Amino acid sequence: MTPLAQLLTRRIAAAGPISIAEYMTDCLMHPQFGYYATRDPLGIDGDFTTAPEISQMFGELIGLALAQAWVDQGCPDRITLAELGPGRGTCMADILRTVRAVPGLLGAAEVHLVEASPVLRARQRDALGGRPVTWHDGADTLPDAPLFLIANEFFDALPIRQFIRHRDGWCERLIGTDGDALTFGLGTPAPLALLDHRLGDTRPGDLVETCAPAQPVIAEISRRIAAHGGAALVIDYGDWRSQGDTLQAVRAHAATDPLADPGEADLTAHVDFEALALAAAGTGHSKLTTQGVFLERLGITQRARALSEQLGGIALESHIAAHRRLTHPAEMGSLFKVFGLTPVGSKPLAGLDP
Ligand code: SAH
Repeated sequence: MTPLAQLLTRRIAAAGPISIAEYMTDCLMHPQFGYYATRDPLGIDGDFTTAPEISQMFGELIGLALAQAWVDQGCPDRITLAELGPGRGTCMADILRTVRAVPGLLGAAEVHLVEASPVLRARQRDALGGRPVTWHDGADTLPDAPLFLIANEFFDALPIRQFIRHRDGWCERLIGTDGDALTFGLGTPAPLALLDHRLGDTRPGDLVETCAPAQPVIAEISRRIAAHGGAALVIDYGDWRSQGDTLQAVRAHAATDPLADPGEADLTAHVDFEALALAAAGTGHSKLTTQGVFLERLGITQRARALSEQLGGIALESHIAAHRRLTHPAEMGSLFKVFGLTPVGSKPLAGLDP
């Protein structure tokens, strides 16, 4: 049993079952035992890998899309260039290298990173090689200034709750114990105003997920973009309107039981982009576009060809595999979606449909 499993079973014995959100919060961010709080889980040797770790092309194209938005909005001086959950800092490093080519942008930009993990903050500091950076615990303390922001695989790490539709309302899916083991159970049915908008498209037995912490984050970002200008790109797995159980645990690049090793596996859930759009009142938002289509529209294939000219052998093979992995529908191309926020009436973000 992991130390966190012991702590949770004791807590459940004393105070009763916990929500999946409470479980995810401790599994990911418990200061002593949390998965992100205590390690760098990314990369080939870690538990999972992400688009910026697969190829520099990802961060480069994000950088160009944000730079285009900056130019479209009249090159405002003093902007916030921000990332939510920057992992190893690879994406922001690739963005900064790329936007050097855009006159005036780097001089205008202050880099702000929202990161809860002390271990990953240290990795980000190294990756950004001495450039001044301000770290934040949440989006609420980002400066009141034009905001150009990327969030890749951030929202999937935020704690969700699950509810199963019942004749008399909704039953929350909770975590209790069975002997020493953690196990799923159901709370008593109750009406839930939060899910009134799902009464039309669900039937008894259907499961829906909610992610309460996503709303204030999106609200903080869209308030700044509406007031001062800017753009946000949110990239993650998920879809418009969630349905079904998407809680998943990954360890050593393989799926595992989400209750098996609390604190030792990455826990995520699909992002409900409709819920993000509802929280983004005040800004315009794009249609949801698949990552494959978005990257193709931004020219990933031309960029891949240009980079391939200096490569040969295994490096060339892995570069070709990386291009496929980011864009192909059978890999990350269709599962991952891109969602953009821009001020009402401004030009849509490059690669996205208004
Ligand atoms: N964007 C990176 C890393 C994705 S992993 C990449 O694409 O490689 C998720 C990241 O979000 C990690 O940096 C993790 O520490 C951070 N994170 C997760 N939950 C968070 C929270 N509640 N507040 C701030 N950062 C969080």
